[in-house]
Amino acid sequence: MWEYKFKSDKQLKDWYDDKVRKGINGFIDFLDFQNWYNDRVKDQSCYYCGLTERESQKIIHNGLLTSKRFPNEGQFSQGVNRGYWLEVDKRNPNGLYSRENCVPSCYFCNNDKSDVFTDIQYREFVTDRIGFLRNILNNNE
Ligand SMILES: [Zn+2]
Repeated sequence: MWEYKFKSDKQLKDWYDDKVRKGINGFIDFLDFQNWYNDRVKDQSCYYCGLTERESQKIIHNGLLTSKRFPNEGQFSQGVNRGYWLEVDKRNPNGLYSRENCVPSCYFCNNDKSDVFTDIQYREFVTDRIGFLRNILNNNE
């Protein structure tokens, strides 16, 4: 039986500490990040496709889609925790994790967007993948 699960404060702190350690944090401090997350990401929907966090949890929890990165039957472990919660995506992949540069993204969009596209490019890309790619190619010729 699926029940909506919030990300724990410890998970948020671990995520935040990792960004600080890597020198890619642009939030003022953990509290600033936590407030932003609770307001903009927790129980919200993907900036790119509109999938809600609850919908994503149901898909993963019920095994409707599977991956080595998804928790299996509710078992979370190191590196096996993707898909369950909305992720923090950088609009500009070369920028910092900050209020201005971050949006909530589902696993599927975040994984697809990777560090290749900006938010604007990715929204065009998902609308018409081959059209977008041929367009950047043609603009270069
Ligand atoms: Zn999405």
